[in-house]
Amino acid sequence: MNASSPPPGDDFATLPLSPALLANLQRLGYVRMTPIQAASLPLALAGTDLIAQAKTGSGKTAAFALPLLAGLDAKRFVVQSMVLCPTRELAEQVTQELRRLARAEDNVKVLTLCGGATMRPQVASLAHGAHVVVGTPGRILDHLVRETLSLDALRILVLDEADRMLDMGFAEEIAGVIARCPRQRQTLLFSATYPPGVIKLAQRYLRNPQQVTIDERHAPGKIRQRFYEVREDERLRAVALLLDHYRPERTLAFCNTKQRCSELAALLQAQGIVALELHGDLEQRDRDQVLVQFANRSCSVLVATDVAARGLDIAGLEAVINVDVTPDAEVHTHRVGRTGRADEAGWAFSLASRNEMDRVGRIDRMQGSDSAWHALSELTPSPDPEPLRPPMVTLQILGGRKDKIRPGDVLGALTKDLGYRADQIGKISVGEFSTYVAVDRGIARDAARALNAGKVKGRTVKVRRL
Ligand code: ADP
Ligand code: MG
Repeated sequence: MNASSPPPGDDFATLPLSPALLANLQRLGYVRMTPIQAASLPLALAGTDLIAQAKTGSGKTAAFALPLLAGLDAKRFVVQSMVLCPTRELAEQVTQELRRLARAEDNVKVLTLCGGATMRPQVASLAHGAHVVVGTPGRILDHLVRETLSLDALRILVLDEADRMLDMGFAEEIAGVIARCPRQRQTLLFSATYPPGVIKLAQRYLRNPQQVTIDERHAPGKIRQRFYEVREDERLRAVALLLDHYRPERTLAFCNTKQRCSELAALLQAQGIVALELHGDLEQRDRDQVLVQFANRSCSVLVATDVAARGLDIAGLEAVINVDVTPDAEVHTHRVGRTGRADEAGWAFSLASRNEMDRVGRIDRMQGSDSAWHALSELTPSPDPEPLRPPMVTLQILGGRKDKIRPGDVLGALTKDLGYRADQIGKISVGEFSTYVAVDRGIARDAARALNAGKVKGRTVKVRRL
């Protein structure tokens, strides 16, 4: 495996892509390649097997989506490429990105195949033909075994978030799927980290791969890390102090255990902070609801374990709080990487008790620098008398895709029919049976009442405030 030389340039136009694809990229506001795209696209487009490693939010999806679309023959209704992902959420995100990028091409059919959904509609869609399938290893293997999916024409196989797929115990399913792929193919492996399991995976299934690594650990600068020493009995209260002092709009708080998550969420909620807990026992629907609220800026704090947060595409947060120090320095880097957007700095706070100091030592060694220590006594309540509040409130409309509701219908009802300004309306997410719309906190109550009395898409609807 060779490490590649630095990227030659970051202009998409230097790539062998069709004018239509290039024009679409521009429409999407993709002006320059991100570093991982600049490093991997020329190689992937040339047909090389690839191991690409870069942190979450660095644009890895387009780094494999573009080669996959560039080589596609839309006239042949057979599966020509396949993306394996660790979770349904990630598979859906990849599908969406593929569809956005494919808008330039005529009628590229992308199909998501994940567990948790019934087989029958998936089988029917497969029978209709698809160019690209995206899914989780277990469900895809299921289809292969039942022969409802054929990979005879597969040209490109992508393993996305390979580290997480292994963490989640998918090694055997991945092996089963790859055993049913044609030998003659291009394999692209993407990962945020590069642990031994991923190296083994690459050695087994990739052919003369090139390796590209964008190590942003040495250029974070944007992330300001602070450590606070705490006693066990003040740890949870310290989180509230941090929130009140720094007042980040959105914070992801990592705990080492589920128990700690519940305690923290309860404490914050008791202080009137909009905090939601993400844990493994949630039903998929509740999990989606939590994520929608965090993404649309109507939840201030998401409290999660590493396992629950795995596979979430949330980056660019104002703050990450390590409520406990993780024993794994690599996990720490991963947690902290969720903060700091392209243009703005983010905060990463860590609370450490005396007996977590050896863990902090490991983190220091990995980051190649000493931690910056601060005292809890520096944390003063904000002069703002208002409690920390998210800017938006989520309204849930009972009715979704099944009722043919589209985002435009909801926006129309709120702006055209009810007279709200477009800038008072935030993200609109249409789910299977429910639609979630974020609205300015100031209009939430009125808007819920007005929607309940009015109509969406010509029908009366039930609306409630989450
Ligand atoms: P990763 O898979 O590395 O976590 P994603 O592929 O999900 O990252 O990309 C993160 C975000 O960056 C997405 O919202 C994507 O649309 C956006 N993005 C990707 N490439 C570019 C680009 N070249 N220019 C602008 N935005 C981009
Ligand atoms: Mg990704």
